[in-house]
Amino acid sequence: MHKGIAASSGIAIGIVHVLQDEPIAVNTSLVHENDVNKELERLEQSLHLSKKQLKELHEKTANESGEENARIFEAHLMILDDDMLLDEIKNKICSERFHAEYALSQVAEVYMKMFSEMEDDYLKERAADIKDISTRVIKNLQGRSVDALANIAQEVVIVAKDLSPSDTAQMDKDKVKAFLTDIGGKTSHTAIMARSMEIPAVLGLGDITVQANKGDPVIVDGNKGIVYLNPDQETEERYRILMKEYGQYLQELKAVKELPAETRDGRRKVELAANIGTPKDCKGALENGAEGVGLFRTEFLYMDRASLPSEEEQFQAYREAAEKMAPYPVIIRTLDVGGDKQLPALEMPDEMNPFLGWRAIRLCLDRTDIFKTQLRAILRASYYGKVRIMYPMISGVKQVRQANQILDSVKTELKGEGIPFDHQVEVGIMIEIPSAALIADLLAKEVDFFSIGTNDLIQYSIAVDRMNERIAHLYDPLHPAVLRLIKNVIDESHKVGIWTGMCGEMAGDEKAVPILLGLGLDEFSMSAASILPVKKVIRSLSYQEAVEIADQAMEMADSESIKAMIQQRLSPNGTCRTESNHD
Ligand code: PEP
Ligand code: MG
Repeated sequence: MHKGIAASSGIAIGIVHVLQDEPIAVNTSLVHENDVNKELERLEQSLHLSKKQLKELHEKTANESGEENARIFEAHLMILDDDMLLDEIKNKICSERFHAEYALSQVAEVYMKMFSEMEDDYLKERAADIKDISTRVIKNLQGRSVDALANIAQEVVIVAKDLSPSDTAQMDKDKVKAFLTDIGGKTSHTAIMARSMEIPAVLGLGDITVQANKGDPVIVDGNKGIVYLNPDQETEERYRILMKEYGQYLQELKAVKELPAETRDGRRKVELAANIGTPKDCKGALENGAEGVGLFRTEFLYMDRASLPSEEEQFQAYREAAEKMAPYPVIIRTLDVGGDKQLPALEMPDEMNPFLGWRAIRLCLDRTDIFKTQLRAILRASYYGKVRIMYPMISGVKQVRQANQILDSVKTELKGEGIPFDHQVEVGIMIEIPSAALIADLLAKEVDFFSIGTNDLIQYSIAVDRMNERIAHLYDPLHPAVLRLIKNVIDESHKVGIWTGMCGEMAGDEKAVPILLGLGLDEFSMSAASILPVKKVIRSLSYQEAVEIADQAMEMADSESIKAMIQQRLSPNGTCRTESNHD
């Protein structure tokens, strides 16, 4: 068995097709000075052909997997039009008399090194784009085939060191049953493509290209990130059953997409929303049936850059999300940095306990300049859809009042400037600190809604660092203390007629959902991929069952008993995903 990164879910059983990472030999001898122009011409011809191929790939990908995925080829075309890069290559041909392919490989090498040494994951990935595009142009210069994957005749599992955008775009979805690669992670291009093509993928397997041989039978479990090469009969039989069950499960999920998120008896309806990190994520949210964004983490605008984002830049991003999701609501969380998220643009102090330190609303109430700019941008965006504002890391009433005072002053400014915004914009807070959960009755009088941030609430209430692997077993969403805090927040909000949502990971945890539903949680916000599985759980329960499960859980002493009780109540009907399919 080989363990890698579960990058795209699903199960496949098939035959290995190893994609050789052929080394590209280039002619390093010098060109005769009379042939320099010929070399420049060869380069032009190859660039021309490469652009033609890229335009075709762009069109194919846009038709098959959507414009978003096709955009990578626009980026490649832009690289081929980059004058600075082309001048460097031409210069090497003219002044150093390099062959075109050698000149190109030398320049590409420099850029690849530069990108791969960058901190930012996104920019790091650009090194792969340079490699992809330079390989294409060199192969065209050498008259070699650039579409090794286009003509696969039988159904296969592709095994490769890594896969480039050009590789994945050429694949015939009906022939390729899964991808396995030596390198790459969850956010790599290969992973994104695999998910969008709905092909199981296990990446980062280390040396799978060495272990696997062409024609080997293979089982790929993309849910768990496991691969069996030459599996025994028993494993294969087990996986054939799992594959069938998983297929049925997916069909059932698709079937619930258009149905309401309500209990089996229609007595309780909730809102299922998505957590997003950038406006681009709205597409996936809507495709998975989200009825809103319950948490827009705005940090992406501030991180990995030397200066703070302008009001205009923020406004454009918030407006894009509001417009894409309209008429559904988008809850925009104000800046939540500090803790593990450092801002290069800000002098952030070294702290003994950063998670208990100068972060989120605490920072914003000190740096009102930053806070006001963001609030202006959010308010301006509120004119273009249904926007709600949410403050993170609130620990007491005073902070909410201070934040609201600043919000009021910003509203007055905008009014004075004649800038339109939603004057009824709702304002809520995250409940992610135990003190806030315990004084939910007091806080409820100050706001329009609560959203429980269990990721932090759990770490603070059980005193378990959410990032420390060593004590991960103590990080327990179903700990009775956590459940009591959650119940208190929901009950107190309902007493004064406001609603409570949840945007921590727990909202998407199928085991926790019956309890949360029974406790009366009004909105569940999670990663887009969890929405349909959660909806399926909700639709399988009657309101009475959910209330009974919640009541029983509240009486229990530990999470093991709670889990066992839920499993027992749900499994006779197979409501939860089978354990073996759980990722
Ligand atoms: C949370 O704490 O539950 C939450 C959603 O916020 P973050 O994960 O961004 O801290
Ligand atoms: Mg948090």
